[in-house]
Amino acid sequence: MMIPFADMRDRVLEGVSVGPVNRVDLADADRRILSGDVVTRYDFPLFDNSAMDGFAVRSADFDGGPRRFRVVGVSSAGHPFDGELGPGEVARILTGAPTVVGCDSVIPVEASTFDPVNGTVEFTAIPSPGDHIRRRGEILESGSLVLASGTVINPGYLGVLAAHGIAAVDVVSPPTVAILSTGDELVSSKVEPGPGQIFESNIVVVETLLNRLGCATRVVHARDDRESIEATLSELSSSVDIIISTGGVSMGGDYDALRNAAVDFDVEVVQVAMKPAKPFAFGRVGDALFFGLPGNPGSVLVSFESFVRPAVRKWSGIAPSIPATVRGVTGTDLSHADDGKAHFIPMQRGADGSWVTAGAIRSHSIDSIADADALLRMEADQLFVSSGTEVELSPLWD
Ligand code: AMP
Ligand code: MG
Repeated sequence: MMIPFADMRDRVLEGVSVGPVNRVDLADADRRILSGDVVTRYDFPLFDNSAMDGFAVRSADFDGGPRRFRVVGVSSAGHPFDGELGPGEVARILTGAPTVVGCDSVIPVEASTFDPVNGTVEFTAIPSPGDHIRRRGEILESGSLVLASGTVINPGYLGVLAAHGIAAVDVVSPPTVAILSTGDELVSSKVEPGPGQIFESNIVVVETLLNRLGCATRVVHARDDRESIEATLSELSSSVDIIISTGGVSMGGDYDALRNAAVDFDVEVVQVAMKPAKPFAFGRVGDALFFGLPGNPGSVLVSFESFVRPAVRKWSGIAPSIPATVRGVTGTDLSHADDGKAHFIPMQRGADGSWVTAGAIRSHSIDSIADADALLRMEADQLFVSSGTEVELSPLWD
């Protein structure tokens, strides 16, 4: 019996929980999901400092009109001036340097004429209190929220965290994944195929999709032999969080060795009412989650997007688990057979902005999917979509 697509996806998501939280250095935190709010222990900026290269001055000194000031010191970045300004005194100050005790404003160097012989300076600008000074805590005060739990960390946020003196954060790390490819007919594209052999082409796709989701991956090949697949699955289950196989779950009887090995574990081999990617397996092998994808390259990608991606997102703490769709308008009529299955159609955005099919999915080739920008799911009972209809599309390759 075929399981409706949405039911199978729900079943997968129910079987996945959010992975463990780890404390990682910022260098390892890009794209991770923050677990728990981050609060700063410091004011930002840490101290009053100059926004310009120029002179630290007392604005009250300018009440009596233009005059000459005595330069009594320098405050540069990392080297504060430890003196104090008295009446008629100014200090040179550089961008980012701490303000000088007694000063209340900065005049940019562009508005000054310095006399190096006498150590004096004259200005063409009249300062107001606070000019060109960045105040301590004006961006964030200590005790304030820096980043909220659930934030997807990006390089900008890494800079924000570092600037607040935060060197490590609690994040949900993506799962580690083993990819198990099965098929005695498969050879590497680095060798000449013998009689009946074909080039293996699923691993690079699945591995790259997983790596883009931040997962560390390893790849294992197995012969179509029940015992060796069982042994390989058992061994992998203690070293990775998720095992994803391709091939061996269709209806080939003894030839589908993975299907036969699966019965030894808590794995269900099912037929999902979808096209392509009808054969599928899901469950647990020991402590690892298990996904048995079909073998056909076109099916692998659709199965991955339908089940693996939402599961990995949920495991990694990314919300929503099912990626958001985008809206588009079809530029062509679409239809599918009344076969009780949801149909996945690779779609391209045309020059006029409307969406047209990138070609039929041939399950044994990924070519039309590779040309696509998004997948359109036509439900089992939605046999026809006319040109000009607004539809929901699932973007590919993110
Ligand atoms: P299976 O379900 O194992 O019978 O696989 C279905 C079809 O996909 C067969 O024609 C296989 O040769 C093909 N296939 C399985 N795995 C791969 C792979 N890793 N790369 C390319 N084709 C594959
Ligand atoms: Mg096979």
